[in-house]
Amino acid sequence: MIEKKEGIEGKKEQESDKIQMDFLNIVSHELKTPLTPMIAYLSLLSKGKLGSLTEKQRGALEKITRNAKLLRRLIWDMLDLSRMETGKMKFHMQEIDLIEIIRDVMRDMETFAKEKNITVESNLRYLPRTEGDRERIAQVITNLLDNAIKFTQENGTVMIETVKKGYTLVVAVSDTGIGIPKHKLDKIFDKFSQVDNKVTRQYSGTGLGLTICKGIVKAHGGNITVESMLGEGSTFYVRLPYKSLGKPTEMFTEVIKG
Ligand code: ADP
Repeated sequence: MIEKKEGIEGKKEQESDKIQMDFLNIVSHELKTPLTPMIAYLSLLSKGKLGSLTEKQRGALEKITRNAKLLRRLIWDMLDLSRMETGKMKFHMQEIDLIEIIRDVMRDMETFAKEKNITVESNLRYLPRTEGDRERIAQVITNLLDNAIKFTQENGTVMIETVKKGYTLVVAVSDTGIGIPKHKLDKIFDKFSQVDNKVTRQYSGTGLGLTICKGIVKAHGGNITVESMLGEGSTFYVRLPYKSLGKPTEMFTEVIKG
């Protein structure tokens, strides 16, 4: 969220933050508009629905599609960031089943994990249904799993676990990947922050994913933290408060104990 700042200078800074965010919003919308039909046509071309393709053409199309999708990711992230910073991100709160969301996301990530020969394991212990925005929580888990796979070498392992601690529902995503240096641990949730930010960096990404995850989890009244050892791997913890879906908490006592 854009911070409220004191004094004339503070006010000026706040206005400038708002202009930046409005600009980001307009630019991302303008970029999104032509990209959507481009990706749709690329998909038709790749599937051979507009005529058969040679191997060389198919290879080139795959590269274009991959890059167009990266661009789309960046645009979506910029839109989300500007919505979040201006307090315009909408949350559709409903009853959600975290385990079901995790299973769906794991299914979606299967191809990416297979490409790198990474085993995705899970230990999904019972969690009661709670209140949240299904799409946004799926976005958080997708981002964490995507990072875990992306920053883990081939043949590595990624693990997703759930546990209930009192009234807190915890989702932990661990990997055996490259890890994060200690001095960068508290920075990686900042916007555009990447451990390797060289132009020649090895991993693609926007440096916005974790900032957006943090905002989404915070909007649910929870928090997100990380533990990591350089060269050994990382674990991200998402903690969400159990919400009693508008009913008196006592009615859920059994569920919580379960
Ligand atoms: P992106 O992945 O698009 O660069 P994120 O905001 O998701 O942006 O992550 C920010 C940075 O945090 C990454 O660029 C990377 O340096 C570091 N990071 C995130 N997850 C992991 C992970 N599982 N292992 C190692 N580094 C990570």
